[in-house]
Amino acid sequence: MKAPTHGGRAKCLQRLVRLELPVPRTVALSFDAVHRIASGDLPDMNGLLSSFDEDALLCVRPSSEDPDWGGPSAILNIGMNDARYVALSDEIGHEAAAALYLRFVQAYAIHVARLDPDQFDEIDETGQAGLSAALGAYEEEAEEPFPQDPAVQLCEVLRSMARAWEGTTARLLRQAKGAPVDAGLGLVVQEMALGIGRGECGSGVLHLVNTETGQPQLTGRYLSQSQGRDALRQRHRSLYLERDPRGPSLQDKAPEAFEQLIEYAHLMRRRLREEMQIEFTIRGGAVHILDGVRVERSSRAALRIAVRMAEDGIISEQEAVMRIEPRAISELLHRQVAPNAQRVVIGRGIAASPGAATGRIVFSSAEAQASAARGEACILVRRETSPEDIRGMHAAVGVLTERGGMTSHAAVIGRGLGLPCVVGAARMNFEIHKKTLVGERGRVFREGDVITLDGTSGAVLEGSPETVEAALDDAFQTLMGWADAARDIDIRANADTPADANTARRFSAQGIGLCRTEHMFFDAERITPMREMIFADTPEDRQAALAVLLPMQRADFTELFRIMEGLPVCIRLFDPPLHEFLPQDRAGLRDLAEALDLPVSDVTRRVESLAEYNPMLGLRGVRLGITVPEIYDMQARAIFEATLDASREGAPVVPEIMLPLVSARREVELVRTRIDAVAAAVRAERGRSFTYRLGVMAETPRACLRADEIAPHCQFLSFGTNDLTQMTYGLSRDDAGRFMSDYVQQGVFSEDPFHVLDVDGVGELVATGAHRARATTPGITLSICGEHGGNPESIAFCRDVGMDYVSCSPFRVPVARLAAAHIALRETGVQRPARL
Ligand code: PEP
Ligand code: MG
Repeated sequence: MKAPTHGGRAKCLQRLVRLELPVPRTVALSFDAVHRIASGDLPDMNGLLSSFDEDALLCVRPSSEDPDWGGPSAILNIGMNDARYVALSDEIGHEAAAALYLRFVQAYAIHVARLDPDQFDEIDETGQAGLSAALGAYEEEAEEPFPQDPAVQLCEVLRSMARAWEGTTARLLRQAKGAPVDAGLGLVVQEMALGIGRGECGSGVLHLVNTETGQPQLTGRYLSQSQGRDALRQRHRSLYLERDPRGPSLQDKAPEAFEQLIEYAHLMRRRLREEMQIEFTIRGGAVHILDGVRVERSSRAALRIAVRMAEDGIISEQEAVMRIEPRAISELLHRQVAPNAQRVVIGRGIAASPGAATGRIVFSSAEAQASAARGEACILVRRETSPEDIRGMHAAVGVLTERGGMTSHAAVIGRGLGLPCVVGAARMNFEIHKKTLVGERGRVFREGDVITLDGTSGAVLEGSPETVEAALDDAFQTLMGWADAARDIDIRANADTPADANTARRFSAQGIGLCRTEHMFFDAERITPMREMIFADTPEDRQAALAVLLPMQRADFTELFRIMEGLPVCIRLFDPPLHEFLPQDRAGLRDLAEALDLPVSDVTRRVESLAEYNPMLGLRGVRLGITVPEIYDMQARAIFEATLDASREGAPVVPEIMLPLVSARREVELVRTRIDAVAAAVRAERGRSFTYRLGVMAETPRACLRADEIAPHCQFLSFGTNDLTQMTYGLSRDDAGRFMSDYVQQGVFSEDPFHVLDVDGVGELVATGAHRARATTPGITLSICGEHGGNPESIAFCRDVGMDYVSCSPFRVPVARLAAAHIALRETGVQRPARL
């Protein structure tokens, strides 16, 4: 009986036997034996039966390597036949004996003889009448009497279970859950310990934790059979485990058995190193343990259970870390609508995935991806979702659907992604083609309007009500502390706003790895001075606009430095694809004309002259800094003045300044000279000293290839794998969504390379860049700040190429911390334990 040969259930039962728990006699059939049974080679039935009492009833249960892979249903009461029925009737009464026989005939007919289930499910008589009906139906459908020989019954049960496992549908289903093609099935044949008879009898399940919170709590149910002799009538009368004023409890009825069960449960927890649910029966007051299965649990509970196990010395802290899947903790991290926030409810649906999400409405996955690429939060609104929408769901902050329920595609995927999700909001009107969403009271919302989903209550809210951050409890903090002790790569956050920075701090990011300064100007009241600066015709006009921007930036940076006190903050100078800042429509043009005090026709002409055919590859990043150097001068000044302001109150700040879209060494030299000059000027004006670190974003293929000559001119190099992926593939970030799903479905790409780093192509450029940079500048700091920085598989690659840190969006920081710990621990040989 070893796990890989007999399956998890067999292994667990074997361990229970070794713990000397009262487990009924059990024989485990190996994967090989079951495979042979499926091909018609059956073991000696009489030999098998001789392991059990002559008149015992038996059950057969599946035992696969991982319980999640499914398997055939267990078949109980094998051995029931006319003679046994008569004998049992004397012992436990006709009704109870008939109920057992009836259930066996039903299960056998449906799962073993594969007769029409309706014929048997519909039998609603109980007792002898029901039994006769079932036996009659069997004989009629199968054209033979119900088999009476226990050896024949057992043989057929084994054969049908073995074959069910080998069927194509079952195989495909388990493969979808990660099972290998040749996954085996073991079968466990066990003597039934019926919870029926004289004295206190019954059956139940019990475990020691709350499955939602993971807190210790005796949980389960017990069905006593001893009050009457009618098992069926008792079926729905679950009793309490512990003493309870609402009704009799197991503790009242069989106090010794109760104490013993709790003792067994603790023993199993300690020795099997897992929270287990015990399946038990009680007969004449004596306890029988039929099975132990790992307690199902929420992500929150899984985390607390792992921490408590480590705190109780049952597993090591490292093993606790390995027990939590990094992606699973994202569920714990979601914000909620503040309890006292102003809520304007525009619709309601099913609360399918918890958390609050605010974003602009989009009606297609392609728009969701485009929106995410622009860094704008969006809510994906669909009639229902299908697998084609997965990428859009990844890109959205929340999903709202007209149709569906708790287990519909959107709900299941939303929960998996930890994405707030409201489904089945059928009283709202979803006019997807017209790109409008009509609230329950007729309010019309269009693409781009901001709504909030409350995935915890199922409400759809207008605008952006106040939200509160996720409640991260002590267990979360403890586990993350253990993860931090294990990992060997730093994790920073990409944060552009004080809110982002606060989140980053709360999630213990070790600094800001990317502050995209152009994002600070997307706000309605800030975009105008930004546009004025872009539109300035003369140096004087530009200076005037920059003078308005300078104090805004200084205040932004001072706040970021204060929030992140003691930690590095890396500020990237402007990288505005210009089209994002140009007015798109007539109203926008008119507003800008008003602000600039110019005729609309002048503004229109200027917009046309600035428009680029391919703005993602146009006058972006450092190219803007070289051609219009006053912009970077202003930003450098704002950074240095903020450095001095923030350093006055707290620890000295050492700002990091990063140049985007560099492709040539000379770009760095030119900008560095000007920034040095600004630094000197600020030092002279303020009479105080400071230092700063200059870095380059390696996000063009050329920057990676020429990293050896760029590196000596800077202190750090951060790989911008979003642009690098775009340029390596020649694939526009904003347009990739149009065909990405086709490409992935047809296997051209194994994954969306904007989501999971393409190690073969983009990765080679990153590795080359890292290697060449270190060759000429060994002490240079290397990092990644593209979206891939938060992806567990990509983090492993970054660590392999010797990066000092990864930087990702704040909510992915805990996932990255845990993923980095897993990578380091796996290397030292700590493995994720096999699931019981
Ligand atoms: C990148 O290109 O990877 C990056 C981080 O910069 P952005 O996404 O702002 O272009
Ligand atoms: Mg970039």
